[in-house]
Amino acid sequence: MSDGRLKHLRFPVEVPLTPHPSPLTHHPSPITHYPSPVPRTFLAIFDRLLAVHGPQHWWPGETPFEVMVGAILTQNTAWSNVERAIARLKGQGALDPERLLAAAPATVADWIRSAGYFNVKARRLRNFCHWYLGQGGYDALARRETGALRRDLLSVNGVGPETADDILLYAFERPVFVIDAYTRRLFSRLGLCAPDAGYEPLRATLERGLAHELARARGAGRKAWKRDCVPLYNEYHALIVAHAKRSCRTRPQCRDCCLAGVCPGRR
Ligand code: SF4
Repeated sequence: MSDGRLKHLRFPVEVPLTPHPSPLTHHPSPITHYPSPVPRTFLAIFDRLLAVHGPQHWWPGETPFEVMVGAILTQNTAWSNVERAIARLKGQGALDPERLLAAAPATVADWIRSAGYFNVKARRLRNFCHWYLGQGGYDALARRETGALRRDLLSVNGVGPETADDILLYAFERPVFVIDAYTRRLFSRLGLCAPDAGYEPLRATLERGLAHELARARGAGRKAWKRDCVPLYNEYHALIVAHAKRSCRTRPQCRDCCLAGVCPGRR
């Protein structure tokens, strides 16, 4: 996403500043870089993450189909492995649904070997291509209503909620918030969801919370909300991943975390 599209997603003053009681009120913060605590709202957290990590320019893919392939290949592996697999597919001229279906399954598996679980993923990729072409390709799918498209994606063998939502948000620009292990880890440590929150309840919490906060911040009607939420969800998910990799890791690096001032889970 370009920086221009992000400009209207800054909320430093519009968010109602009624800070939650900071757990640091009686305990001086070990953090000196970020002296002012952010209110513990989804938009204020977004704004702090954006200020610290900057725009992430997701999804890293040149075409919607490349985004879809990346969403399938990234299951249970690091993105760097997916990049190598996609580069190999490009090198073979095979980043194309017809070409992937025309190739032998073992050949597809070899092309995507670096992404791990390559036999399973080759099968999933070919299932997806079969479905994709059978539905009429991108233009036909792009005409479908979001809920129907989500249901159809979930009917494809090997496409779960996270993969479907990656595809909906980043390939079709639909307003769905992608939930992953990083999202659950960050918001549970921030005290905003349970550590074992289910996918759909957490997605609903985030989407409803952001809609409510945006409406209050902007006095926004439905039109403004629709304009804001796709770029907001796009950037927010990417920022969560960036923050989870740099600070809120399995062993959290709370001393340098920009959210420590409002995080009950800090160590
Ligand atoms: S303070 Fe620690 S636990 Fe809380 S968000 Fe930051 S890194 Fe994660």
